[in-house]
Amino acid sequence: MKKGVPISPGIAVARAFRIDEACARQSHGLMQADDIDVEIARFEEACNSVAQELDTLISRVSKEVGEDAAAIFRSHRVLLRDPGLANKVKREIQVHGVDAPTALDRALEEYTSLFARISDEYLRERMADIRDVISRIINRLTLDESAQKLAGQEPIVLVAAEFMPSQAVMFDRLPVAGIVTEAGGSTGHAAILARSLGIPAVSGLRGLLKEVHTGDMIIVDGREGGVLINPGPEVESAYRKLQREYVDLRHRLIENRDQDAITSDGVRIELLANVNNVVDAAAAVGAGANGVGLFRTEYVYLSHTSVPTEEEQVAAYRAVIEASPNHSVVIRTLDLGGDKQVPYLGAQREANPFMGWRSVRMSSEFPEFFQTQMRAILKAGVHGKISMLFPMVSTVEEVIHLKLLVENARQSLELEKAEHAQKVPFGVLIEVPAAAICIDQILEEVDFISVGSNDLIQYLMAADRDNPKVAHLCEPCHPAVFRILNSIITACVKKNKPVTLCGEMAGRPLFLLPLLGMGLTRVSMSPNFVPTVKEMVRTVTIPAARRVAKHVVNMQTVDEVREYLSAKVRKMCPNVAKLDTM
Ligand code: PEP
Ligand code: MG
Repeated sequence: MKKGVPISPGIAVARAFRIDEACARQSHGLMQADDIDVEIARFEEACNSVAQELDTLISRVSKEVGEDAAAIFRSHRVLLRDPGLANKVKREIQVHGVDAPTALDRALEEYTSLFARISDEYLRERMADIRDVISRIINRLTLDESAQKLAGQEPIVLVAAEFMPSQAVMFDRLPVAGIVTEAGGSTGHAAILARSLGIPAVSGLRGLLKEVHTGDMIIVDGREGGVLINPGPEVESAYRKLQREYVDLRHRLIENRDQDAITSDGVRIELLANVNNVVDAAAAVGAGANGVGLFRTEYVYLSHTSVPTEEEQVAAYRAVIEASPNHSVVIRTLDLGGDKQVPYLGAQREANPFMGWRSVRMSSEFPEFFQTQMRAILKAGVHGKISMLFPMVSTVEEVIHLKLLVENARQSLELEKAEHAQKVPFGVLIEVPAAAICIDQILEEVDFISVGSNDLIQYLMAADRDNPKVAHLCEPCHPAVFRILNSIITACVKKNKPVTLCGEMAGRPLFLLPLLGMGLTRVSMSPNFVPTVKEMVRTVTIPAARRVAKHVVNMQTVDEVREYLSAKVRKMCPNVAKLDTM
């Protein structure tokens, strides 16, 4: 068995499907005269769709972000219609009989070697624009091809070097039973998506692409982080049996949907859901969550090719509010940057994107852009009980600035007499160690706190959550993680301010057990984990959890913490141990 990092629990037994092979263009070989005309027409059509895509992008970006950002796309529009490029591609198709993507690849190679010889740095940098335009045309051509090829297939295990959030559209088009990747940590955004969809996933599998080909039988054990390739019929049928048992147990647990999450000594724990869209919100209801503790709004932006308008945003937020349990939603403002980029903000490539220009750090450069979102949230808020949550704050000054922006948005709505939510609780996400250390000052300014343990751990450990080489350091079992969480929770309890944990740790009984002992009573997780966590809550007592917490904060090593917690959960909640990654 190949061992990797367990990302999302569950068992999948299905045929491998390599994303790179699917997206790789099938060479059509040398084409006949008729095919050549068809291929040229296909190239022209793709250019026309890309032109439309860019036009929409330009008009929205110039209106909502500014002329500077739009200028980038205007120059792409000009490059797209450059007769030099079109002629080069068409000539390649005609003379060498290759397909359009191959002709585009060759044109790209030619430009790359030409630009490499240019000494003027400004001109050399224009190569990035040419590459972007050519990639847009190639993507347009190959996405259409692969969508056609994949329609109506049997369940598959996606195999990739890395799974990017932008590839999530695959989930809509394909029956994905599992995901295995060479790269990616357990708190990366792709991992979160897999978990929220209940798709078993394992990452950190070095050399995977050398061993697996499309069509191979693959077993994914997302609880243990194990993968078997072409295992043989006996092993395959044993895993199919395990898979049935896993699904049965989960179904039985779902039946606890209408029961309260109350510990066996009577303490109520609020189980909330992390959602990206309406489908997740409905899943949160189905799983028996009490509300939504984290609505990641950036997916509203990532799913648009240009800035969504205020009214489009109101509609998207309203739909999530109305679909959520008790219409109660904590709406997190835009958290772009890091590994989540939208083309229309014109962000430049950064050496350290996770430490760079991300989240609320973008708000001073694009105040109108953020203002639009705040107005949309306040407008949508009349349809339920909402709170506003701001990610990635580092200083108390930022918190004060953000409060001012909310106030401006509120006043602008008042002036217009536009209907909007009143008295919306204001909270910030504690994800930066500096904010965790200065929690007392921040608590003076906010109504509530959420802890984003995914980011907090990556910054605490100085280890990129999406980099497989350091994924082992992004480790919730590090004693430092429990110590810092203990100090945040204790400060909030003392000041009587609500605190919710909403990183991936919240959905993992193993980690949650000591946190309940520290006084945490609100957690927000992928809807998929609510039943398992509820089972765990209902079997433990707070004094027992307190004893566990006391031990953990005094431990010295990751292994010591993990072994201790794993043994405790296996003993205290045996059903839970069968379902989750331990
Ligand atoms: C986190 O960092 O823990 C969090 C909840 O936010 P995200 O995973 O979206 O960065
Ligand atoms: Mg975060």
